[in-house]
Formats: sequence, structure tokens, C-alpha cells
Amino acid sequence: MDNTFGKNIIPDNDELRIEALKRYKILDTPPENAFDNVAKLATQIFDVPVSLISLVDAEQVYFKANVGMGNVKSTSRGVSLCSLSILDKNVTVFENAPTEPCLLTNPNVAGSFGLRFYAGAPLTTADGFRIGTLCIIDKTPRTFDEKSRFILESLAKIVMDEIELRLSSIEEAGKQHTISESAEAVNEELKATNDELFFSQRMVEELNEELSTTNEEITAANEELIALNHSLKVSQRSLYLSNAKLAESEEIKNLAIDQAELGIWYIDADTREFVSSPRLKDFFGYEASETMAYDAALNHIREDYRSIVGAKVEEAIASGEAYDLEYPIISKKDNRLRWVRATGKLNPADNGRRSYFSGTIMDITERKEDDQRKNGFISIVSHELKTPLTSMSGYIQVLQLRATKNGDDFSSGVLGRALLQVRKMGSLIDGFLNMKRAETRKIPLDVTVFDMAELVKESEVESMATISSHNVIFAPVERTIVKADRDKIGQVITNLINNAVKYSPRGTTINVACVTIETNAVISVKDQGIGIAAQDLKKLFERFYRVNRKDIETVSGFGIGLYLCEEIVQAHSGKIWVESELGKGSTFFFSIPTESSITKLEES
Ligand code: ADP
Repeated sequence: MDNTFGKNIIPDNDELRIEALKRYKILDTPPENAFDNVAKLATQIFDVPVSLISLVDAEQVYFKANVGMGNVKSTSRGVSLCSLSILDKNVTVFENAPTEPCLLTNPNVAGSFGLRFYAGAPLTTADGFRIGTLCIIDKTPRTFDEKSRFILESLAKIVMDEIELRLSSIEEAGKQHTISESAEAVNEELKATNDELFFSQRMVEELNEELSTTNEEITAANEELIALNHSLKVSQRSLYLSNAKLAESEEIKNLAIDQAELGIWYIDADTREFVSSPRLKDFFGYEASETMAYDAALNHIREDYRSIVGAKVEEAIASGEAYDLEYPIISKKDNRLRWVRATGKLNPADNGRRSYFSGTIMDITERKEDDQRKNGFISIVSHELKTPLTSMSGYIQVLQLRATKNGDDFSSGVLGRALLQVRKMGSLIDGFLNMKRAETRKIPLDVTVFDMAELVKESEVESMATISSHNVIFAPVERTIVKADRDKIGQVITNLINNAVKYSPRGTTINVACVTIETNAVISVKDQGIGIAAQDLKKLFERFYRVNRKDIETVSGFGIGLYLCEEIVQAHSGKIWVESELGKGSTFFFSIPTESSITKLEES
């Protein structure tokens, strides 16, 4: 075995330790939900990309759960950091791996994976053997405080309990198997006896009748035995399951009591039975000993968010997609308002266990208040900037008029460009002002009836004057009458075209189209640019979200353009979406209902 650490990584009791590990019959077995869930929970709690449950064998380290490292199932013991981690009964932490002399030549650290942060808590058996670890990994250095160590240790304990539970279920299954086997053996014997009896029957006719009756009785008794055995098996299984569920919710509870910031919840996907940790109850103003039903919890969500949260939970249960939402709750105890972030995921039914939806709730009040202060500041500054900018634009126009009159083409041209820059600045400031309004859901709409094609043609004229780097083609542009805020929809179109310019190479083509599809006006902007990776697609429309890529670091922007586009389109009961693949260009679409469909709806 190659050892890259430059020190002995084999503990004195390694032979006994491996014997203990083998006892669990878990080495090199396929993934199981119970373990995957803990690893996923660890990535959620610590906000890291990778979490592993590793089992350290003599030569190899096997991964029982692997979140974030692709399909890797095992690695050599001599390179795995988990081999170091089992040497210590406490959590092993490398906050910045390259500064650790023993990791300098480690391929995970020095190689292309670029491991920087590692924390591993040993999985310790009841008799004190450290058979593996629950570890978390990141590619950037980070600090890891006492509380985090404690949480990681608690999660490792859950994993160890799960391994024990798993073993006892295997042993139970084994016992059941033996019982069935001996029942079968008895059965075989009975059959043989039966045969013998049959044989004797020939010889002793009178005896036969009696024996045959006895024989039937025995067969009936035997069948009963088999049936009994079967129902025993079934009740045994459900006993084991309810035990497992009990242990699981007990562990969840304990974990949440011990650490102060995460509330944990669990919803039965069929019955909506709701189990919550004491910390979560505390958020909602309930005592730990009080029961809090699902509907009661919903009632403490601030009214404007209540139905949204309810609908999102139902949607996540139905679709199986991850759930991530921020909303305000009002405490039952003292009416205190608190912002929380709730994340969760559906755990499909597995091995007879019912399907459940579970996750965490975190207090984000401080961050929200910070945000609100920041936004308040942005909004004041934007208001203050707006007035002088408007005057400036007026003065420049006066100067430009005069220059044109005097035949001074040079000044007039320069002033034209100055005006363009002032307008750009104006629309940036408008963006900030709109952001404030969008946040309070108060985007004011100035609705008129107009032809979308006309608006798109105006964008064409504007783009001819302002875009020389790309070939922008407007076709097809079909007449579609809509009832909407003309300026705001214009802003959306301009924004999408400007993004297409920003995120695609010079000289490429941008296609803008406006068509009617059923009862909607659909606008699309297609570019031949850098495209968008699948994991970014969903987040693009979030406020301040910008894709993190080296090649576009210098492209200016605040990550609010698409957020505002979505708010504006949604205020029109419309939809905005994107189709894209990395390196293959992007097409942004948005649709809003046509005027005739709105009128029809109003009439009915
Ligand atoms: P920004 O001001 O950063 O452009 P947006 O909200 O308009 O903000 O866009 C958010 C992010 O979405 C951008 O930072 C960029 O990474 C990505 N993006 C937007 N449009 C495109 C596009 N046409 N092609 C590729 N990436 C895009």
C-alpha cells in the first residue's frame, strides 16, 4: 500500500479493528437511503459540496455514502484522509490542507481535485473500534468551530446507530431464514413419513384409512404452521421498522436540542403527520413539550406568505424536487417576527418505510434586516441620484440642440454619446428603484393596450444605434395585441438583448423574435454565447445571483437584471424561462397573455 502521509497510519489494534468492521457485513455493499440521507444532511448543515461515509478496511477505504464525488466507491487507504481520521477519537480537521506538512504530497490535495478543507468524525463501535468516518470536504479553506465539531460528531453517532440497526436487521432476517428452513425440513420429513405410510398402506389396508386421516391432519397442521410463520415474519418486520423510525426521530430531536441554530422537521408524505424539533417549536413560540400540528405551524407564517409556503410544500412532495424558501413567521408566544429559511427534500418510500419529507429551518432574521437596511440605503441613494441626473440629461440635450444648429457635428456627436451614457446610468438607477419595489411586491403597472410588434421594432431601432459589436436580427416579429405596462415590458426586452450582448463573443448573431402562441405573446432572445450550466439555470433569476466564472469576471453587472425581468413578467401573470447548454448559447423566453385572452377571462 502506498502511503503519502510520511507517517505510520496503521493503528496498533488494526487487526482487531478490521475484525470488528467485518462483523457489520457492510463493506463494499451498495448505497442505502438511510446513509445517503445523513451525508446529504451534512452537506446541507455545513454548506459543503462533498460528504462521505467511509469504512477503512486493510487496503481500501470504501464509501458507504458519497455525496458530491461522482461514482467513486472506494480509494486506497494510503491516500484517503479518512485513514488519518480514524487514528484520533476526536474530530480530525484540516482547515487549509496545503499548509499541513503531512498532506503536501497527497494527490487529493496536490492534484486536480484541489481539496482544501476536511473534517472527519470517527464512526466508533460500542467496544471502541473506529471503523470509519463521516467526513465533509470543501475545495476552499474554511474554519471549523467547536459547535460544528459537535454537530459532526452527533451525525457520526447517528451513522453508527444506523450501522448497528442494519446489522441487527440482517441478523433477524437470517434467523427468519433458519426458521423457514427448519419448517421446510420438517415438512420434507413429514412428506417422507407420508410416503412411508403410503407404502405401508399397501400392506395393511385397514390401517391405511386411519393413517391417511392422521396424515391429512398433519398436513393441515403443517400449513397452519407455515401461515403462522409468515405472519410472524410480517409483524417482526413492522416492529423493526417502527423501532427504526423511533430511533431516527429520537436522534433528530437530540441533535436539534444540542445545537442551537437549526430547527428540524419531518412530514409524513401521506398523512401530513408533522414532527418538529424543540428548536423549531421555539421559533414558532411553542414549548418543547407542546405538540405543534402542521396546520398550526402554517398559521404562524405571516399571512402574505402562508399560502405560498403551503403550496410549495405540496409541490415539493408531489414533484420530489428540493424545497428552499425564505419566509417570515410570527411567534405564538410574543408575536415576535422572525425570518427563516426552510430547506427540505422528499425521501421516497424505501424497504417498507413510508415516504417522508424532511429538512431544516434556520433563523435568518439578522441577514434579512441587514438586507433591508442595505436596500433602504440603495433606495435613498438612487432617489437622490435621479434628480441631478435628470437635470444633466436636460442640459446635455440643450447643448446638443445648439451644437446641431451651429453645424458643430463633432460636439453634437460627443454630446449624443454623453446622453447615451446618462441614459444607461438612469436605467441602472431605475433598476435599483424597481428592485426595492419588487421586494415589497409593489411594482406599479401603468397598463395600456398596444401591439407588442411595435415595441419590439422600437428595440430594433434602439439596438441599431447602440450595438455595433453583434449582428442583431429581429424576425419573425408578428402583430400581437397585449394589455401591459409598455415601458416595463420594453425594459425586459432591452435587458435580455443586453445580456445576450454581454455574454456572447463579438461578431456573433443574436436573434430576437415575437410571436403569438395560443393565448400568449412570446418573446425570445437567442444568442451564440457562453451558455449556462445546468446547476445555474434555476438560480439565474434570483436577486444578486451571478454565475461564478473566470472568463466573465470582468463583465459588469449586479445580478439584478433577470430578477427584475422575472418580477415584471410575473406582475403581468406571465412566465420567463431559459433554455441553454454550456458553450452552446442561450435562449431566453418570456410570455404574457394577449389582450383578447385577458378580456375573455374578465368577461367570464
Ligand atoms: P448581470 O447584471 O450580472 O448580468 P442578470 O440578472 O442580468 O445580472 O444575469 C444574472 C447572471 O446570469 C449573469 O451574471 C450571467 O452569469 C447569467 N446570464 C444572463 N444572461 C446570460 C446569457 N445570455 N448567457 C449566459 N449567461 C447569462
